[in-house]
Amino acid sequence: MLSLATGISASDAAMTRRIGLLGGTFDPVHYGHLRGALEVRDCLDLDEVRLIPSARPPHRDQPGATAQQRLAMVRLAVGEHSGRHGGLVVDDRELQRNKPSYTVETLESLRGELGNTVTLFMILGWDAFCGLPAWHRWEELLQLASLVVLQRPEQDQDLPEVLKDLLAARSINDPRQANAQHGQILCLSQTPLAISATHIRALLAGGQSPRFLLPDAVLDYIETNGLYRP
Ligand code: ATP
Repeated sequence: MLSLATGISASDAAMTRRIGLLGGTFDPVHYGHLRGALEVRDCLDLDEVRLIPSARPPHRDQPGATAQQRLAMVRLAVGEHSGRHGGLVVDDRELQRNKPSYTVETLESLRGELGNTVTLFMILGWDAFCGLPAWHRWEELLQLASLVVLQRPEQDQDLPEVLKDLLAARSINDPRQANAQHGQILCLSQTPLAISATHIRALLAGGQSPRFLLPDAVLDYIETNGLYRP
């Protein structure tokens, strides 16, 4: 894993638009997501990172909050309405589709809209990367975007053999080489934040406060709407 401190300079970056994509259930969004998105943006000199809430996540239990509530929390988290979003933006395209949120279809939709010259980086935590072979049409993902895999402090999953082979074939070691429009894999270690939505939901269900693990505006929304209570 490379340190995010060894970022590329603006002059090294390709002249094409460089966009990061962080999909997730965001049930709820927390500082692990936000800090990771921001550090990848700075390390790879991205124009923006889009946070893309999943409407109906196909690979997991149904979320504790509705899609609209999770979207509202992501909007609050990035401060979209205050103008202090720091290059993080919210993309709600998966909520516009009336079917499961397959990432490959999201990438196809983004390519259709943004064209083939933009450089797309799909950001994944280590746990999500380890589960990739179960994703719908997963082998096509690298034809549409490059992958940025973030270390998580609590990560304990072993990498499936097929992903070891993929890493051997596709990984690059230096963020300065991350210039292909798609097809590369870069493993990065962000500032370790052992925060998960599961833990936050468990704290709330147990009557404890998750304050300082997620933005205050998100916690206020959770409390106002009575989310994640037993
Ligand atoms: P849950 O605990 O409900 O599974 P989560 O905290 O893992 O949720 P997701 O919305 O499932 O959050 O995560 C979206 C993406 O962000 C995934 O790729 C995940 O690996 C990554 N991610 C989540 N938390 C962190 C963290 N603390 N550090 C690095 N990556 C993270």
